Amino acid sequence: MTPPFDPEAGPFLNAHCHLELGHLRGAITPGLDFVSWLERLVQFKKESSLAASTEGAREGISLLRATGTDAICDVVSMYTSVEPLREASREGMKTLAFREILTPHPLLADEAVETAILQETAGVPWGLSPHAPHTTSAPLLRRAAREAREAGRWLCIHAAETGEEVEVMMAGTGPLREFGAEFYPADWSPPGMRPIEYLHECGCLGPRTLLAHVNHAADHEVELIRRTGTSVVVCPGAHCWFGRGEFPLRRLLDAGVRVYLGTDSLASNWDLDMRKEVRLAAELTPGVDPARIAALADARRAGDFISV
Ligand SMILES: [Zn+2]
Repeated sequence: MTPPFDPEAGPFLNAHCHLELGHLRGAITPGLDFVSWLERLVQFKKESSLAASTEGAREGISLLRATGTDAICDVVSMYTSVEPLREASREGMKTLAFREILTPHPLLADEAVETAILQETAGVPWGLSPHAPHTTSAPLLRRAAREAREAGRWLCIHAAETGEEVEVMMAGTGPLREFGAEFYPADWSPPGMRPIEYLHECGCLGPRTLLAHVNHAADHEVELIRRTGTSVVVCPGAHCWFGRGEFPLRRLLDAGVRVYLGTDSLASNWDLDMRKEVRLAAELTPGVDPARIAALADARRAGDFISV
């Protein structure tokens, strides 16, 4: 039986993490702009072994357990965290692995989604995670949304995380376009829509969709999120780690959006301690009852994502 929820001690749900990056704890200097962070992340991922990533994920789970988290929604791209998640699941932790899909090439969309569906994560419930609107294509987003909908699975998508993302989506310019010069197909053109508008257009919003971050949504996009019953996970530690501006929690709550809390990865946070995330979320959201904020991380809410 799940113990009663204590706002100071849990048990907590961490609704957004990338355990496979745990070995990068402390490797990247906090406060970098997003593109500089991405450059370092890509480099570190190239240089590190799969074994180190698996071990980092295992240590991450120990950190979660030691700090009162017993439910986790994790994003997997290298699948190195699957075995640690499976072990944790066997020991009673509620786990969900979002299988990441990332390619902006429309011609590779079907293959990328099918590959994700065919991955082996037995023992760990799963969903699909088209990475973000600017790192995927409309055919990929549509196919992933359809597959998830038909199978009753959740989608997790990073969305409206940075101003740079909005710029590349709207105009095809800016640091993310420059960073991705070789990443995007030669004939790539921007959708000319804001991230959340675009996800809506591609059929990705709905009651089984979890958007991560949503720092840069326009008012009508917040309304789209609410109206479609889409959920959002905000990550206070990562928000501070990057030194970002207004934390979106207050705005989302005021709009009536269903919100969860997460840590994001140890490549962009100091810890995986949900007690700290809860405290930080309250500090960043003055005027909202801290108990209401803590309740967003109540492990009993894991049942929204994980039925077993
Ligand atoms: Zn993330």
